[in-house]
Amino acid sequence: MATFEPSPQDSADIGVTGMAVMGSNLARNLAHHGYKVAIHNRSASKTEAVIDEHGSEGEFFPSESTEDFVKSLKKPRVAIIMVKAGKPTDAVIEELAQYMEPGDIIVDGGNSLFTDTRRREAAMKDRNLNFVGMGVSGGEEGALNGPSLMPGGSKDAWERLSPMLRDIAAKAEEDGEPCTTHVGADGAGHFVKMVHNGIEYADMQVISEAYDMMARALGLDAHAIGDVFETWNEGDLQSFLIEITATVLHHDDVRTGRPFVDIIKDEAAQKGTGAWTVQTALDLGVPVTGIAEATFARSVSGDVDQRAAAQKVLEARTADEKIDDPQQFIDDLQKALYASKLVAYAQGFEEISKGAETYDWDINLGDMAKIWRAGCIIRAKFLDRITEAYDRDPGLKLLLADPYFAEAINDCVPAWRRVVAFAAANGFPVPVFASSLSYYDAIRSERLPAALVQAQRDYFGAHTYKRVDDEGSYHVEWTKDRSETRTDGGQGGVTHGAVDPSAGEQTQEKSTR
Ligand code: NAP
Repeated sequence: MATFEPSPQDSADIGVTGMAVMGSNLARNLAHHGYKVAIHNRSASKTEAVIDEHGSEGEFFPSESTEDFVKSLKKPRVAIIMVKAGKPTDAVIEELAQYMEPGDIIVDGGNSLFTDTRRREAAMKDRNLNFVGMGVSGGEEGALNGPSLMPGGSKDAWERLSPMLRDIAAKAEEDGEPCTTHVGADGAGHFVKMVHNGIEYADMQVISEAYDMMARALGLDAHAIGDVFETWNEGDLQSFLIEITATVLHHDDVRTGRPFVDIIKDEAAQKGTGAWTVQTALDLGVPVTGIAEATFARSVSGDVDQRAAAQKVLEARTADEKIDDPQQFIDDLQKALYASKLVAYAQGFEEISKGAETYDWDINLGDMAKIWRAGCIIRAKFLDRITEAYDRDPGLKLLLADPYFAEAINDCVPAWRRVVAFAAANGFPVPVFASSLSYYDAIRSERLPAALVQAQRDYFGAHTYKRVDDEGSYHVEWTKDRSETRTDGGQGGVTHGAVDPSAGEQTQEKSTR
């Protein structure tokens, strides 16, 4: 077991505890920017490994105990936690808090659930400690060379942290701006990071649906499909995920020489942030259909027994259409992908907007798109357009209602419909392409079948309904005389009396007043 001399007290600018891949890389990133970095890990061997392998990269102050780690920090102290989310994070917070003093700042950079962050922030506030839940995106490479950082917490904590966070964050290519900002109070940072991850799920799934159609409907091999993604990366779709997709598709397995993607089992795993995004959206009543379908698609892929059982008996008859114009089909796929991606982003931003309203966070939506422009997994060319849309109208109800995005998505519609129709007729699953198109058609429909749903609800549960031709809420005595009563106590309502079902006509009318 490693042992360290206690580091000098009050000497490190910032500390990081949790020396697994993310914490060690973040600590190195800070050291590369000239900060004196205290480092600590539950098992000291990881701290030792960082010193052995990277000690020459900057000024590190290793500690074996939490107490020495905290004492080595300059006051007011800043300690970043990069450990497993959940109970381990609670345990580490508690340990740090024992040695911290009023005004010190504990930053949780793990993927914590925002409700946990809210609880922790309140508990630390009671002890006069600042607690910052900070979303960190970009994986290990981002942590080392510049992540997108989404800190929540108090404005005071942000003031203290911002010079360091701005230094180590990724810088946007367009204007050199650091990809970090104060997201909002308590759990806002982790909320935004959660939705970021949800959008990432949808983004990855739409890319995979386009790949699947090229592979199975067009019969292209992985390298040819990689070429298509490379081309797409030069246009509106330009993004990190499209770029790495092309790289993956051009990679051949080192053992067999076969395209790498063909030797991977088709079972996508998940760590839970997609599910959190969907669960939270359900609680908030925000339709995140793209993210939900992408999350479910991973679950479908991973249920091997269920798929095996289905494959034995479910032989839906499908067309076997030949595609006459492959290039036209590829162009259509590009538009289906772009449109579905726009829907997923619009829905994700809607979730952030509803979260901000519900939890009283002052989140600038345009700034969220700005800080995702570099460092993070969903970095993409079109994020600038999102910022511009919210600059034009900070109260924008839906991203797709912005003139730029409305035109962009409308332009995709004919191609998008052709792709979804082809997929349905020929038996290819395109859950996000198809559900996103349905969402598009739903929000632009003047009238929805929700009228019938509401009538059904009133029938079996007296849940009431609103009329198209009058104010107020109403209920029909369905199993009695089918009279209508105004239920909200409003003025001017009338109860329309019994309708003779055989006559199908209204037979009497009386005032409710
Ligand atoms: P990880 O595998 O999630 O966690 C390993 C670290 O947690 C080790 O330092 C481990 O210490 C520590 N740990 C576990 N249980 C502990 C406990 N009860 N008490 C104290 N320490 C405990 O590491 P990671 O992949 O570097 O991720 C760190 C955090 O960043 C996680 O919350 C993760 O979700 C988040 N994150 C990860 C990524 C990514 O791409 N990997 C991206 C963004 C955010 P020992 O060495 O002693 O076991």
